[in-house]
Formats: sequence, structure tokens, C-alpha cells
Amino acid sequence: MRSLQELVRPNIQALQPYQSARSLHQGEGLLMLDANESPFGEGLNRYPDPYQRKLKGKIARIKNMPESHIFLGNGSDEAIDLLIRIFCEPGQDSILTFTPGYSMYKVSAGIQNAGVLELPLTQTFQLPMKAMLEAGRNPCVKLVFATSPNNPTGNTVDRQDLELLCQSFDGMVILDEAYIDFCPEKSVLDLLKVYPNLIVLQTLSKGAGMAGVRLGMAFAQPAVVELLNKVKPPYNLSRLAIEYALENLDPEKTRREVALLNEQRGKLKESLEGLAITCKVYPSEANFLLVEFDEPETVFQSLLESGILVRDMGKKIPNCLRLTVGTAEENARLMETLLKK
Ligand code: PMP
Repeated sequence: MRSLQELVRPNIQALQPYQSARSLHQGEGLLMLDANESPFGEGLNRYPDPYQRKLKGKIARIKNMPESHIFLGNGSDEAIDLLIRIFCEPGQDSILTFTPGYSMYKVSAGIQNAGVLELPLTQTFQLPMKAMLEAGRNPCVKLVFATSPNNPTGNTVDRQDLELLCQSFDGMVILDEAYIDFCPEKSVLDLLKVYPNLIVLQTLSKGAGMAGVRLGMAFAQPAVVELLNKVKPPYNLSRLAIEYALENLDPEKTRREVALLNEQRGKLKESLEGLAITCKVYPSEANFLLVEFDEPETVFQSLLESGILVRDMGKKIPNCLRLTVGTAEENARLMETLLKK
């Protein structure tokens, strides 16, 4: 197995990161004349803590994970982008990912001019083990991106498959758990202790209800967290985002809302299955349903005309729309509109 040092791009290893005086001193009780800020104001005139130490402390307690294993990003999209920039030499290295899947891995790889190997998931949307391990033997493949629950299919990745991937792949395995709050028992965070090449991404955008805050988390061995910190913009999370999350992140509230949405998902699935226009509603462990319709374009348009926007997934999975689970009232409005068809 290649060491982390062997996997990281040489220029990133050699990089001298930006250092603010604030990286070393948090400034409490100090007269801060180090960062050319305005002296007028009640807090927002000051730059935020570059390492979000207070918020990390709170997340560390909630996730039962040492702070040294946590990176916070401007959405998990930032962590995806930074990981590709750390590991993939432009024009030379590649990522391996799966279809149907979340498209940002490919977009971020494209920006970096890294290659993208995209393998189809199995019929039940599980990892294609044989093809995946074979493709992973190419030394140019530095990262594998898998998603659990997967977007847009809604299913979780088989834990044993993931373990085999971590054991066999000579690179970093990134498991994106953006929707894990909807099925927390399926999280593989505990496997970080077992596999040093595993990186788990989570976000406050879904179950925690803070998509507008932009706060994503990467959990990994401390050496990987250090690399992420080295390449991130110095103040990647705003003071507003940090303070809002500190005040409002409440696992109890998340659990309550997730329970409501999971119940709504079950009801919505049943109602959709009763419609003549639906062919198939895929099982989901996230806050959305992948639905196959006889005439998806007509459904999409008539929903839009009634003021309801859903996601057309036809390019990835023929005849499928992805419907986000809303409140009971919102789902009822969706069903009424579909029934009128
Ligand atoms: N991963 C997956 C699988 C997603 O579906 C999304 C959001 N659509 C993200 C990551 C990005 O999340 P964030 O808001 O934390 O950037």
C-alpha cells in the first residue's frame, strides 16, 4: 500500500501554506492589530477563527470523534474539491466514481483536469465490486468516491463492500454520507479507526436543515485533516456560519425532524405507488424518492405549471424524477397535483 506521502501531489507536500497571526493565537483578550480589520463593530468586523475550534469542539462531542479528525468546509462540496486538488495531479491522475451518482465529483475533477473513471452501479445500485477493484489497480487512480445513501438512488452502500474496497484499493476511499442523518445506524464513521485510507464526508445541509449555512464535514485521520487545512482558503467558513451552527446545531431537533420526514417518505412512497402514472418507486433511506414514470416529461411539466419543481433524472436513469420529501402539507399538494393528471 502506498503511504499518504506517496499519494499526495508533491507540490502540495512542499507547499508553504498561508499563515495568519490568527492561526496561532485566537485573539481573546488581545488588542488585535494583526489583520487590518476595522476596529468598529461588535464581532463581524473581525475575521473568524480559521480552524473553527469552538464549533469543532461541539461537533466532536456530537459525533464522538476527536477534533484532530475533523475538517470543516464551506459545504461538503468544498471538501470534495480540496481532496481532488490534494491528491490528483492534473493531466495525470484520476478519480473513480459511479453512475448514477452525485455529479460534483466529476465536476470538481474536471476543474482540476483530473481523469474520471465512471463505473455503473449494479442493478440494485450497489458497488460493482469486480470492475471497481480492477479499475482501482491503475496507479493513476488516487481517489474513489462512493455515496451512502446514494444520490439520486436513495440506497445505502453495503458495509462489507466498503470494507473490502478500503482493504484492497491502494488510494483514498471517500464515502459521502451527506444523507446519513436519515439512517444514522448505517454510518461507517466507526471504520475510520480501522482503515487509515477512509475519509467520510457529512453535511449540515440535509438532516440538520442548514443548507443555507454552507457547512460540510470531513472525518479522516489527522494527517489528512492537516492537508485539508493546508490547502483551504484561510477563512473558509464565515463568522456568521460558525456562530449560526454553534447556536442552532441540535442533534435532538435533527432526530425529531428526520423522524417526521422518514415517516412522510413512507407515506409518500405508498401514495405514489398507488398512482396509475407511476412505474416504480425505488426504496430510499434518504429524504427523497427516485420515481419512474410512464411519461416523465409530461409529469415534470405539469408539476412545474402547478408551481412544483422536482428534479429530472432522465439523463442518469431513464424516465426517472427525483422528488424531495417535504412536510405533510407539501406532499399532499404534490399528490393532489399528480392525481389530477
Ligand atoms: N454530497 C451529496 C451526495 C449531495 O447530494 C450533496 C448536495 N446535493 C452534497 C454532497 C453537497 O452538500 P453540501 O451542501 O454540504 O455542499
